[in-house]
Amino acid sequence: MSYDKLIFELSVPNRRGYSLPKENYPTYHINDLKNHLRKSELVLPEVSELDCVRHYTNVSKKNFGVENGFYPLGSCTMKYNPKINEEIAKSLSFTKLHPYQPVRTIQGALRAYYELQVALSEISGLAEFSLNPYAGAHGELVGLMVMKEYHLSRKDFKRTKVIIPDSAHGTNPASTTVCGMEVIEIKSNELGMVDIDSLKAALSDEIAGMMLTNPNTLGIFENDICEITKLVHDAGGLMYYDGANLNALLGKVRPGDMGFDIMHINLHKTFSTPHGGGGPGDGPVGVKDFLVDFLPNPRIKKLDDYYYTANINTALGQISSFYGNYLVELRAYSYILNLGKENLMNVGKLATLNANYIRNALKDDYYLPIEGYCMHEVVFDGLKDNPNDIKTLDVAKRLLDYGMHAPTIYFPLLFHQSIMIEPTETESLQTIDEFIRVMKKIAEEAKTDPELLKKAPINTPITRTDEVFAARAMIFSYRDYLEYNKE
Ligand SMILES: *Cc1c(COP(=O)(O)O)cnc(C)c1O
Repeated sequence: MSYDKLIFELSVPNRRGYSLPKENYPTYHINDLKNHLRKSELVLPEVSELDCVRHYTNVSKKNFGVENGFYPLGSCTMKYNPKINEEIAKSLSFTKLHPYQPVRTIQGALRAYYELQVALSEISGLAEFSLNPYAGAHGELVGLMVMKEYHLSRKDFKRTKVIIPDSAHGTNPASTTVCGMEVIEIKSNELGMVDIDSLKAALSDEIAGMMLTNPNTLGIFENDICEITKLVHDAGGLMYYDGANLNALLGKVRPGDMGFDIMHINLHKTFSTPHGGGGPGDGPVGVKDFLVDFLPNPRIKKLDDYYYTANINTALGQISSFYGNYLVELRAYSYILNLGKENLMNVGKLATLNANYIRNALKDDYYLPIEGYCMHEVVFDGLKDNPNDIKTLDVAKRLLDYGMHAPTIYFPLLFHQSIMIEPTETESLQTIDEFIRVMKKIAEEAKTDPELLKKAPINTPITRTDEVFAARAMIFSYRDYLEYNKE
């Protein structure tokens, strides 16, 4: 395994990356505050400015993002983030604002915020949105808190259980647990959809509601959605829509019209704001009319042409500092305005077309566990004709050699060799055709050169890693690394 030196390994004692006039900076002694002094020596790399710049520039070139190449990471909607979003978000009119500024001085900023709330309501068929949650999972938590609050407000204290299909995103059961409610998992049927009989069996007067991902994590549209929402409502529960991946439905159907009461949307998926790297996301939560007053504070409201912030007594309180990730919200609003209603209506259509094009082109080489059309992503269960027992992991690693990001693998958990491909609507026919060509080539290599696939990737700075070792040996920092090498 070869890699460039760490910045600590470039370090030379007393080398400095700055020079400051000494007399401008007096020395302070904090000896009388012994508790505040470090107990161990501070380990910092000692490098010149040029070493530092070169190091990080070279590291950045090894990064792979949507702007480097095809990135079909299923369930993540890694669509291109248009540059106009960045232009708008970096405008000083927005970046120089302070959240404590009087509202009359920030009318334009509040207007953009308010109009995004309204646009999302229109797109999803719900009454109102709060943009405050910081991510999809955070939105789920807020939505579940609204659900919980609703039942408590009706003194219906028994309702503490949430139904979640086994095909759900892992964050659904996690958020339910964090919210202090109990998960009831129900099975999928052979078509990969909610099994109605399992659902019926799970219903009772202890059900707070049901969380449903649609299209589900197999990339399939739930056929019986109206029956599902009716069953849950009749049992006194609320319907939660995990709309993290709204892309496939954009402009086609609206969760509100299908009977959902609460939903979240990931702006960092469907609405083209930066995604990944732990960067700031945004997971707006929308609700039907009767739940509006539970949405977290502060709310942004409009009276005639005046925008103002309101804190509502029955609300959950505050779940983020101020208004969520404002500059992320601006990017999403810029995306919506830039596409306009007409083009926004084509997003789901094209995303679905692209996924089905790939599905059809690869179905002779990769095993399709579920027949029929998919939505915005397609799931295969490993190679079809596979005499050398090549795993999905090997296929994914080999893709890196061809300059493409690997799709999501081993998710959903319903199959053993899942590979989940989501091209999004922003890819050209030529890029998608190239991906198909490469995937077919890998299927061929699996028969003719299996050892190559088991070693892959071979063209990347770091070749095949030992994932078991990486999971066991927790080397996260330079200090861990030194510890490890001492042994
Ligand atoms: C991505 C995703 C989430 C979680 O969103 P985060 O912003 O990563 O917290 C939840 N549900 C589904 C279906 C998703 O695809």
